[in-house]
Amino acid sequence: MPRTLLIAATTGYQTRAFTNAARRLGVEVTLATDRCHVLEDPWRDRAVAVRFEEPEESARVLASLPNRPDGIVAVADRSTTIAALAAERLDLPWHPPAAVALCRNKNLMREAFSRAGLNVPQNFAVPLDSNPLDAAAATAYPCVLKPLGLSASRGVIRADNEPEFLTAFERIRRILGLPEIRCLNDAADRAIQIEQYIPGREFALEGIMTEGDLQVLALFDKPDPLEGPFFEETIYVTPSREPAQTQRAIVETCRAAIKALGLSHGPIHAEMRVNEHGVYMLEIAARPIGGLCARALRFKPALTLEDLVILHAIGALPPDLQPAPSASAVMMIPAPGTGILEAIEGEDRARQIPFVTGLEITAKRGEKIVALPDGAGYPGFIFAEAPDPATAETALRRAHAELRFRILAALPTLRD
Ligand code: ADP
Ligand code: CA
Repeated sequence: MPRTLLIAATTGYQTRAFTNAARRLGVEVTLATDRCHVLEDPWRDRAVAVRFEEPEESARVLASLPNRPDGIVAVADRSTTIAALAAERLDLPWHPPAAVALCRNKNLMREAFSRAGLNVPQNFAVPLDSNPLDAAAATAYPCVLKPLGLSASRGVIRADNEPEFLTAFERIRRILGLPEIRCLNDAADRAIQIEQYIPGREFALEGIMTEGDLQVLALFDKPDPLEGPFFEETIYVTPSREPAQTQRAIVETCRAAIKALGLSHGPIHAEMRVNEHGVYMLEIAARPIGGLCARALRFKPALTLEDLVILHAIGALPPDLQPAPSASAVMMIPAPGTGILEAIEGEDRARQIPFVTGLEITAKRGEKIVALPDGAGYPGFIFAEAPDPATAETALRRAHAELRFRILAALPTLRD
Protein backbone atom coordinates (compact mmCIF):
# COMPACT_ATOMS: atom_id res chain seq x y z
CA MET A 1 0.00 0.00 0.00
CA PRO A 2 1.35 3.45 -0.82
CA ARG A 3 2.17 5.58 2.20
CA THR A 4 2.15 9.30 2.72
CA LEU A 5 3.64 11.38 5.46
CA LEU A 6 1.01 13.82 6.74
CA ILE A 7 2.57 16.74 8.58
CA ALA A 8 0.02 18.65 10.59
CA ALA A 9 0.29 21.57 12.97
CA THR A 10 -2.74 20.40 14.90
CA THR A 11 -4.77 17.23 15.08
CA GLY A 12 -8.00 19.12 14.44
CA TYR A 13 -10.76 18.67 11.90
CA GLN A 14 -8.66 19.61 8.88
CA THR A 15 -6.15 16.89 9.64
CA ARG A 16 -9.00 14.43 10.10
CA ALA A 17 -10.40 15.38 6.69
CA PHE A 18 -7.06 14.30 5.18
CA THR A 19 -6.71 11.09 7.16
CA ASN A 20 -10.29 10.16 6.21
CA ALA A 21 -9.57 10.86 2.56
CA ALA A 22 -6.44 8.71 2.72
CA ARG A 23 -8.39 5.86 4.27
CA ARG A 24 -10.99 6.05 1.47
CA LEU A 25 -8.23 6.00 -1.12
CA GLY A 26 -6.36 3.10 0.47
CA VAL A 27 -3.29 5.19 1.25
CA GLU A 28 -1.45 4.58 4.53
CA VAL A 29 -0.67 7.63 6.60
CA THR A 30 2.17 8.39 8.94
CA LEU A 31 1.00 11.38 10.93
CA ALA A 32 3.61 13.82 12.21
CA THR A 33 2.56 16.54 14.61
CA ASP A 34 3.93 18.51 17.50
CA ARG A 35 0.82 18.00 19.61
CA CYS A 36 0.70 14.28 19.97
CA HIS A 37 -0.55 14.45 23.57
CA VAL A 38 -3.98 15.47 22.24
CA LEU A 39 -3.94 13.02 19.38
CA GLU A 40 -6.99 10.92 18.64
CA ASP A 41 -4.89 8.40 16.76
CA PRO A 42 -7.41 7.36 14.11
CA TRP A 43 -4.98 4.80 12.62
CA ARG A 44 -4.02 3.20 15.93
CA ASP A 45 -0.60 4.01 14.68
CA ARG A 46 1.26 6.32 16.99
CA ALA A 47 1.90 9.72 15.47
CA VAL A 48 5.46 10.84 15.18
CA ALA A 49 6.22 13.74 17.49
CA VAL A 50 8.04 16.59 15.81
CA ARG A 51 8.91 20.05 17.05
CA PHE A 52 7.80 22.79 14.71
CA GLU A 53 10.24 25.25 16.19
CA GLU A 54 13.09 22.87 15.30
CA PRO A 55 12.39 22.11 11.63
CA GLU A 56 15.85 20.75 10.72
CA GLU A 57 15.90 18.25 13.56
CA SER A 58 12.27 17.31 12.89
CA ALA A 59 12.98 16.71 9.23
CA ARG A 60 15.89 14.46 10.19
CA VAL A 61 13.56 12.39 12.38
CA LEU A 62 10.98 12.11 9.59
CA ALA A 63 13.59 11.13 7.04
CA SER A 64 14.77 8.21 9.15
CA LEU A 65 11.41 6.58 9.92
CA PRO A 66 11.29 2.81 9.39
CA ASN A 67 8.41 3.10 6.89
CA ARG A 68 9.69 5.24 4.09
CA PRO A 69 6.83 7.39 2.70
CA ASP A 70 6.05 7.65 -1.00
CA GLY A 71 4.91 11.24 -0.65
CA ILE A 72 4.39 14.18 1.69
CA VAL A 73 1.29 16.19 2.54
CA ALA A 74 1.54 19.36 4.64
CA VAL A 75 -1.56 20.69 6.37
CA ALA A 76 -1.44 24.42 7.26
CA ASP A 77 1.39 26.89 6.85
CA ARG A 78 3.52 25.87 9.78
CA SER A 79 3.90 22.33 8.45
CA THR A 80 5.34 23.43 5.12
CA THR A 81 8.83 24.20 6.45
CA ILE A 82 9.35 20.70 7.86
CA ALA A 83 7.67 19.17 4.81
CA ALA A 84 10.12 20.86 2.45
CA LEU A 85 13.16 19.87 4.55
CA ALA A 86 11.96 16.28 4.97
CA ALA A 87 11.24 15.98 1.25
CA GLU A 88 14.75 17.12 0.47
CA ARG A 89 16.27 14.51 2.78
CA LEU A 90 13.99 11.77 1.48
CA ASP A 91 14.63 12.81 -2.10
CA LEU A 92 10.90 13.17 -2.71
CA PRO A 93 9.64 15.89 -5.05
CA TRP A 94 8.23 18.87 -3.12
CA HIS A 95 8.52 22.65 -2.96
CA PRO A 96 12.13 23.59 -2.05
CA PRO A 97 12.83 24.91 1.49
CA ALA A 98 13.95 28.30 0.14
CA ALA A 99 10.64 28.81 -1.68
CA VAL A 100 8.64 27.81 1.39
CA ALA A 101 10.67 30.24 3.51
CA LEU A 102 9.65 33.07 1.16
CA CYS A 103 5.99 32.02 1.37
CA ARG A 104 6.12 32.18 5.14
CA ASN A 105 7.45 35.71 5.37
CA LYS A 106 5.19 38.45 3.99
CA ASN A 107 8.06 40.90 3.60
CA LEU A 108 10.46 38.57 1.78
CA MET A 109 7.58 37.47 -0.46
CA ARG A 110 6.96 41.09 -1.47
CA GLU A 111 10.68 41.51 -2.25
CA ALA A 112 10.66 38.43 -4.46
CA PHE A 113 7.56 39.65 -6.32
CA SER A 114 9.12 43.07 -6.75
CA ARG A 115 12.37 41.62 -8.20
CA ALA A 116 10.25 39.66 -10.67
CA GLY A 117 8.57 42.88 -11.84
CA LEU A 118 5.12 42.04 -10.44
CA ASN A 119 2.74 44.71 -9.13
CA VAL A 120 3.68 45.27 -5.49
CA PRO A 121 2.28 47.87 -3.10
CA GLN A 122 4.79 50.14 -1.36
CA ASN A 123 5.81 48.24 1.74
CA PHE A 124 8.31 47.89 4.55
CA ALA A 125 8.73 45.87 7.73
CA VAL A 126 9.61 47.22 11.17
CA PRO A 127 10.68 45.36 14.31
CA LEU A 128 7.97 44.89 16.90
CA ASP A 129 9.86 47.00 19.40
CA SER A 130 10.47 49.96 17.10
CA ASN A 131 8.80 53.33 17.64
CA PRO A 132 5.46 53.21 15.78
CA LEU A 133 5.46 57.02 15.41
CA ASP A 134 8.33 56.78 12.91
CA ALA A 135 6.60 54.05 10.89
CA ALA A 136 3.29 55.95 11.01
CA ALA A 137 5.02 59.00 9.56
CA ALA A 138 6.82 56.97 6.88
CA THR A 139 3.79 55.24 5.40
CA ALA A 140 1.21 56.42 2.87
CA TYR A 141 -2.49 56.02 3.72
CA PRO A 142 -4.63 54.01 3.58
CA CYS A 143 -2.30 51.20 4.60
CA VAL A 144 -2.50 47.67 5.98
CA LEU A 145 -0.49 46.46 8.97
CA LYS A 146 0.08 42.76 9.49
CA PRO A 147 2.26 40.32 11.38
CA LEU A 148 4.94 38.88 9.09
CA GLY A 149 4.23 35.26 9.80
CA LEU A 150 0.64 34.66 10.87
CA SER A 151 -2.24 33.53 8.65
CA ALA A 152 -6.04 33.47 8.32
CA SER A 153 -6.10 37.30 8.42
CA ARG A 154 -5.09 37.20 12.06
CA GLY A 155 -3.74 40.60 13.06
CA VAL A 156 -4.29 42.11 9.60
CA ILE A 157 -5.62 45.66 10.12
CA ARG A 158 -6.28 48.58 7.81
CA ALA A 159 -5.39 52.08 8.96
CA ASP A 160 -6.53 55.25 7.17
CA ASN A 161 -4.51 57.75 9.21
CA GLU A 162 -1.83 58.03 11.91
CA PRO A 163 -4.10 57.58 14.95
CA GLU A 164 -5.57 54.41 13.42
CA PHE A 165 -2.05 53.25 12.60
CA LEU A 166 -0.90 53.65 16.20
CA THR A 167 -3.94 51.79 17.54
CA ALA A 168 -3.45 48.97 15.03
CA PHE A 169 0.27 48.72 15.81
CA GLU A 170 -0.43 48.32 19.53
CA ARG A 171 -3.11 45.74 18.81
CA ILE A 172 -0.74 43.63 16.70
CA ARG A 173 1.92 43.94 19.38
CA ARG A 174 -0.58 42.51 21.84
CA ILE A 175 -1.51 39.63 19.54
CA LEU A 176 2.16 38.77 18.90
CA GLY A 177 2.77 38.90 22.63
CA LEU A 178 0.21 36.18 23.35
CA PRO A 179 1.87 33.13 24.90
CA GLU A 180 0.37 30.86 22.22
CA ILE A 181 2.25 32.84 19.55
CA ARG A 182 5.41 33.58 21.49
CA CYS A 183 5.90 29.89 22.17
CA LEU A 184 6.12 29.25 18.41
CA ASN A 185 9.40 31.10 18.64
CA ASP A 186 9.26 32.26 15.04
CA ALA A 187 11.50 35.18 14.09
CA ALA A 188 8.80 36.36 11.68
CA ASP A 189 6.61 37.05 14.71
CA ARG A 190 9.00 39.78 15.88
CA ALA A 191 8.14 42.24 13.10
CA ILE A 192 5.20 44.02 11.49
CA GLN A 193 4.72 44.39 7.77
CA ILE A 194 3.22 47.68 6.58
CA GLU A 195 1.95 48.09 3.05
CA GLN A 196 -0.24 50.36 1.01
CA TYR A 197 -3.88 49.33 0.86
CA ILE A 198 -4.67 47.75 -2.53
CA PRO A 199 -8.25 48.50 -3.55
CA GLY A 200 -10.03 46.01 -5.78
CA ARG A 201 -11.88 42.71 -6.03
CA GLU A 202 -10.32 39.71 -4.34
CA PHE A 203 -9.81 36.14 -5.59
CA ALA A 204 -8.19 32.89 -4.54
CA LEU A 205 -6.59 30.39 -6.86
CA GLU A 206 -6.19 26.78 -5.91
CA GLY A 207 -3.58 24.85 -7.83
CA ILE A 208 -1.27 21.90 -7.79
CA MET A 209 2.25 21.90 -9.19
CA THR A 210 4.04 18.99 -10.76
CA GLU A 211 7.75 19.44 -11.37
CA GLY A 212 7.41 23.17 -11.92
CA ASP A 213 4.16 23.02 -13.88
CA LEU A 214 1.03 24.65 -12.43
CA GLN A 215 -2.33 22.99 -12.89
CA VAL A 216 -5.15 25.37 -11.94
CA LEU A 217 -7.82 23.49 -9.99
CA ALA A 218 -10.15 26.39 -9.23
CA LEU A 219 -10.43 30.14 -9.26
CA PHE A 220 -12.66 31.45 -6.47
CA ASP A 221 -14.39 34.83 -6.36
CA LYS A 222 -14.61 36.39 -2.91
CA PRO A 223 -17.84 38.31 -3.42
CA ASP A 224 -17.91 40.17 -0.09
CA PRO A 225 -16.34 43.62 -0.03
CA LEU A 226 -13.08 43.14 1.89
CA GLU A 227 -12.31 46.73 2.77
CA GLY A 228 -11.26 46.43 6.40
CA PRO A 229 -10.46 47.45 9.01
CA PHE A 230 -10.38 43.64 9.53
CA PHE A 231 -10.49 41.12 6.71
CA GLU A 232 -12.85 38.23 7.34
CA GLU A 233 -12.65 35.76 4.48
CA THR A 234 -16.27 34.54 4.58
CA ILE A 235 -17.47 33.43 1.11
CA TYR A 236 -15.57 31.70 -1.71
CA VAL A 237 -17.45 30.87 -4.94
CA THR A 238 -16.26 28.94 -7.96
CA PRO A 239 -16.28 29.07 -10.97
CA SER A 240 -15.37 32.74 -11.12
CA ARG A 241 -17.84 35.15 -12.70
CA GLU A 242 -15.04 37.40 -13.97
CA PRO A 243 -14.56 37.89 -17.74
CA ALA A 244 -12.23 35.33 -19.34
CA GLN A 245 -9.59 38.02 -19.89
CA THR A 246 -9.37 38.86 -16.18
CA GLN A 247 -9.21 35.18 -15.29
CA ARG A 248 -6.34 34.72 -17.74
CA ALA A 249 -4.50 37.70 -16.23
CA ILE A 250 -4.91 36.21 -12.75
CA VAL A 251 -3.52 32.85 -13.83
CA GLU A 252 -0.60 34.46 -15.69
CA THR A 253 0.32 36.59 -12.68
CA CYS A 254 0.13 33.51 -10.48
CA ARG A 255 2.53 31.65 -12.73
CA ALA A 256 4.98 34.57 -12.59
CA ALA A 257 4.63 34.79 -8.80
CA ILE A 258 5.20 31.06 -8.37
CA LYS A 259 8.33 31.32 -10.47
CA ALA A 260 9.52 34.31 -8.44
CA LEU A 261 9.23 32.27 -5.25
CA GLY A 262 10.66 29.08 -6.72
CA LEU A 263 7.71 26.86 -5.82
CA SER A 264 7.81 23.65 -7.78
CA HIS A 265 5.91 20.59 -6.59
CA GLY A 266 2.81 20.23 -4.46
CA PRO A 267 -0.32 22.25 -3.71
CA ILE A 268 -0.46 26.03 -3.81
CA HIS A 269 -3.08 28.45 -2.53
CA ALA A 270 -2.76 31.96 -3.95
CA GLU A 271 -4.70 35.13 -3.13
CA MET A 272 -4.81 38.26 -5.23
CA ARG A 273 -6.62 41.54 -5.83
CA VAL A 274 -7.54 43.00 -9.20
CA ASN A 275 -8.11 46.67 -9.99
CA GLU A 276 -7.66 49.00 -12.97
CA HIS A 277 -3.86 48.71 -12.64
CA GLY A 278 -3.92 44.94 -12.98
CA VAL A 279 -3.42 41.92 -10.74
CA TYR A 280 -1.74 42.31 -7.33
CA MET A 281 -0.67 39.14 -5.58
CA LEU A 282 -1.49 39.20 -1.89
CA GLU A 283 0.31 35.99 -1.10
CA ILE A 284 0.96 32.40 -2.08
CA ALA A 285 1.04 29.52 0.38
CA ALA A 286 2.71 26.15 -0.26
CA ARG A 287 -0.34 24.20 0.90
CA PRO A 288 -3.96 23.60 -0.04
CA ILE A 289 -6.80 25.91 1.03
CA GLY A 290 -7.41 25.89 4.78
CA GLY A 291 -10.08 24.61 7.12
CA LEU A 292 -12.70 22.38 5.58
CA CYS A 293 -12.83 24.50 2.40
CA ALA A 294 -11.17 21.79 0.33
CA ARG A 295 -14.47 19.97 0.49
CA ALA A 296 -16.00 22.69 -1.68
CA LEU A 297 -13.92 21.49 -4.61
CA ARG A 298 -15.17 18.41 -6.38
CA PHE A 299 -13.83 16.64 -9.39
CA LYS A 300 -15.43 13.93 -11.47
CA PRO A 301 -16.08 11.16 -10.69
CA ALA A 302 -16.08 11.69 -6.90
CA LEU A 303 -12.87 13.31 -5.72
CA THR A 304 -12.43 16.21 -3.32
CA LEU A 305 -9.37 18.42 -3.10
CA GLU A 306 -8.11 16.39 -0.12
CA ASP A 307 -8.22 13.31 -2.35
CA LEU A 308 -6.30 15.08 -5.10
CA VAL A 309 -3.61 16.33 -2.76
CA ILE A 310 -3.03 12.83 -1.39
CA LEU A 311 -3.07 11.21 -4.82
CA HIS A 312 -0.69 13.85 -6.15
CA ALA A 313 1.69 13.29 -3.23
CA ILE A 314 2.07 9.61 -4.09
CA GLY A 315 2.35 10.38 -7.82
CA ALA A 316 -1.12 9.05 -8.67
CA LEU A 317 -3.04 12.18 -9.70
CA PRO A 318 -5.61 11.20 -12.37
CA PRO A 319 -4.37 12.58 -15.70
CA ASP A 320 -7.64 13.99 -17.04
CA LEU A 321 -9.18 15.80 -14.08
CA GLN A 322 -12.63 17.19 -14.74
CA PRO A 323 -14.19 19.68 -12.34
CA ALA A 324 -17.71 18.76 -11.22
CA PRO A 325 -20.24 20.58 -13.43
CA SER A 326 -22.06 22.56 -10.72
CA ALA A 327 -21.04 25.82 -9.09
CA SER A 328 -19.75 25.47 -5.57
CA ALA A 329 -19.42 27.86 -2.67
CA VAL A 330 -18.15 27.73 0.88
CA MET A 331 -18.54 30.16 3.75
CA MET A 332 -16.01 30.34 6.54
CA ILE A 333 -18.43 31.46 9.22
CA PRO A 334 -16.91 34.51 10.88
CA ALA A 335 -16.60 34.30 14.66
CA PRO A 336 -19.52 36.51 15.66
CA GLY A 337 -17.79 37.77 18.80
CA THR A 338 -15.32 36.83 21.49
CA GLY A 339 -16.36 34.65 24.40
CA ILE A 340 -17.48 31.18 25.35
CA LEU A 341 -19.69 29.51 22.75
CA GLU A 342 -22.81 28.51 24.61
CA ALA A 343 -25.22 27.44 21.88
CA ILE A 344 -25.96 27.69 18.20
CA GLU A 345 -29.54 27.99 17.02
CA GLY A 346 -30.99 27.49 13.57
CA GLU A 347 -28.70 24.70 12.32
CA ASP A 348 -31.60 22.62 11.02
CA ARG A 349 -33.22 25.56 9.26
CA ALA A 350 -29.87 26.46 7.69
CA ARG A 351 -29.41 22.92 6.38
CA GLN A 352 -32.82 23.00 4.75
CA ILE A 353 -32.08 26.02 2.55
CA PRO A 354 -32.15 24.85 -1.08
CA PHE A 355 -28.69 24.13 -2.56
CA VAL A 356 -27.02 24.00 0.87
CA THR A 357 -25.07 20.73 0.89
CA GLY A 358 -23.45 20.92 4.30
CA LEU A 359 -23.06 22.78 7.55
CA GLU A 360 -20.18 21.83 9.82
CA ILE A 361 -19.88 23.54 13.16
CA THR A 362 -16.30 22.87 14.16
CA ALA A 363 -16.27 24.93 17.38
CA LYS A 364 -17.40 23.03 20.44
CA ARG A 365 -19.89 24.20 23.02
CA GLY A 366 -18.01 25.64 25.97
CA GLU A 367 -15.01 26.55 23.83
CA LYS A 368 -13.64 30.08 23.65
CA ILE A 369 -14.03 31.67 20.24
CA VAL A 370 -12.17 34.81 19.33
CA ALA A 371 -13.19 37.29 16.64
CA LEU A 372 -10.76 38.93 14.22
CA PRO A 373 -8.28 40.50 14.36
CA ASP A 374 -7.19 38.75 17.57
CA GLY A 375 -8.43 35.25 16.82
CA ALA A 376 -7.76 32.68 14.15
CA GLY A 377 -9.97 30.05 12.61
CA TYR A 378 -13.69 29.79 12.16
CA PRO A 379 -16.48 28.31 14.26
CA GLY A 380 -17.77 26.48 11.21
CA PHE A 381 -18.32 26.14 7.48
CA ILE A 382 -21.37 26.17 5.20
CA PHE A 383 -21.26 24.52 1.78
CA ALA A 384 -23.55 24.99 -1.24
CA GLU A 385 -23.73 23.54 -4.73
CA ALA A 386 -26.02 25.01 -7.37
CA PRO A 387 -26.40 25.28 -11.14
CA ASP A 388 -24.72 28.71 -11.11
CA PRO A 389 -22.39 30.69 -8.79
CA ALA A 390 -24.93 33.37 -7.83
CA THR A 391 -27.44 30.77 -6.61
CA ALA A 392 -24.75 28.99 -4.59
CA GLU A 393 -23.68 32.29 -3.01
CA THR A 394 -27.26 33.27 -2.14
CA ALA A 395 -27.86 29.88 -0.54
CA LEU A 396 -24.88 30.44 1.79
CA ARG A 397 -26.10 33.88 2.80
CA ARG A 398 -29.60 32.59 3.51
CA ALA A 399 -28.26 29.67 5.55
CA HIS A 400 -25.94 31.94 7.51
CA ALA A 401 -28.86 34.29 8.27
CA GLU A 402 -30.62 31.37 10.00
CA LEU A 403 -27.77 30.83 12.47
CA ARG A 404 -27.68 32.47 15.89
CA PHE A 405 -24.55 32.06 18.00
CA ARG A 406 -25.03 32.53 21.73
CA ILE A 407 -21.76 33.65 23.22
CA LEU A 408 -21.06 34.24 26.88
CA ALA A 409 -18.68 37.09 27.49
CA ALA A 410 -15.50 35.43 28.76
CA LEU A 411 -14.01 36.69 31.97
CA PRO A 412 -11.01 38.82 31.12
CA THR A 413 -7.75 36.97 31.63
CA LEU A 414 -4.38 38.53 32.28
CA ARG A 415 -3.40 38.40 28.64
CA ASP A 416 -6.60 40.09 27.42
P1 ADP B 1 -3.01 36.15 6.00
O1 ADP B 1 -1.81 35.34 5.72
O2 ADP B 1 -3.25 36.37 7.44
O3 ADP B 1 -4.21 35.64 5.26
P2 ADP B 1 -2.89 38.30 4.03
O4 ADP B 1 -1.70 39.08 3.67
O5 ADP B 1 -3.37 37.31 3.04
O6 ADP B 1 -2.66 37.62 5.45
O7 ADP B 1 -4.07 39.31 4.37
C1 ADP B 1 -5.35 38.88 4.73
C2 ADP B 1 -6.39 39.72 3.99
O8 ADP B 1 -6.18 41.11 4.27
C3 ADP B 1 -6.30 39.61 2.48
O9 ADP B 1 -7.04 38.50 2.01
C4 ADP B 1 -6.88 40.93 2.04
O10 ADP B 1 -8.30 40.91 2.05
C5 ADP B 1 -6.41 41.88 3.12
N1 ADP B 1 -5.14 42.54 2.73
C6 ADP B 1 -3.89 42.18 3.06
N2 ADP B 1 -2.98 43.01 2.55
C7 ADP B 1 -3.65 43.95 1.86
C8 ADP B 1 -3.28 45.11 1.11
N3 ADP B 1 -2.02 45.49 0.97
N4 ADP B 1 -4.29 45.82 0.54
C9 ADP B 1 -5.58 45.47 0.69
N5 ADP B 1 -5.97 44.41 1.39
C10 ADP B 1 -5.05 43.64 1.98
CA1 CA C 1 -4.20 35.22 3.16
